[in-house]
Amino acid sequence: MNMLGKVALITGATRGIGKAIAEKLHANGAEIVVTGRNPELLKLWEAKGALAVSADVTQVSEVQNLIELTLKKYGKLDVVVNNAGITRDGLLMRTSDDDWNQVISTNLTGVFNVCKAAIRPMLKQRQGKIVNISSVIGVSGNAGQTNYAASKAGVIGFSKSLAKEVAGRNILVNIVAPGYIDTDMTEALTETQRDEIIKMIPLKRTGLPEDIASLVNFLVSDENKYITGQTIHCDGGLVI
Ligand code: NDP
Repeated sequence: MNMLGKVALITGATRGIGKAIAEKLHANGAEIVVTGRNPELLKLWEAKGALAVSADVTQVSEVQNLIELTLKKYGKLDVVVNNAGITRDGLLMRTSDDDWNQVISTNLTGVFNVCKAAIRPMLKQRQGKIVNISSVIGVSGNAGQTNYAASKAGVIGFSKSLAKEVAGRNILVNIVAPGYIDTDMTEALTETQRDEIIKMIPLKRTGLPEDIASLVNFLVSDENKYITGQTIHCDGGLVI
């Protein structure tokens, strides 16, 4: 899964799954462009030679600036991984307009903003790989996550449509749907909740960010030439 000579942009790479994906692609030789909003964590990436850009995926101008900086520095963009995401959980009755809007703007509109800005250079290059991080919750639903499930199901429909639009230019678009992965996002779970979740997972463990990173690395590498528009679950068998 050699990534030498590839330029890869990963959103939300300051922590968790995005950080693991960026580390994997970097270790395999890619030039890395990372985003997030935490300046201290971005500096750590700069120290490793990455182009680290503070960019909020909900802000069109910041996303456009991110793509311009990437093209200025590297002259091309081979890979985009839309990973930035948030949760604002609660039963529907208690979900505020703000909880709804923030989750949809980050998880769904953020993917639209980044893909829209990145697709032009990829179309010109006549090649590219996009992976959008959804969630098993976007497939199965979950009580207390109507906003999150809607955003992640939206990512699946969006990505399948984009895959059909750009296949003629050799741009492959896939979706990764993680199960329960140990990151800051799932840290709030109590021990009891974790035990209950593990009981439901056939492989009997929660996932690691590296589990997702390995899958993404395959999908964006030259090893993948014929998979597009697919939702690949990486969840220990949770949603079989
Ligand atoms: P974390 O909360 O650990 O990290 C989220 C990352 O997204 C951070 O780097 C954060 O950076 C960035 N981010 C959040 N909002 C924005 C924004 N508006 N603009 C730019 N960057 C932003 O989450 P995970 O690593 O757990 O999750 C990563 C992805 O995987 C998400 O899309 C999530 O929905 C999905 N997922 C996670 C699962 C899990 O079990 N952990 C399961 C299924 C899917 P900063 O704070 O610096 O802005």
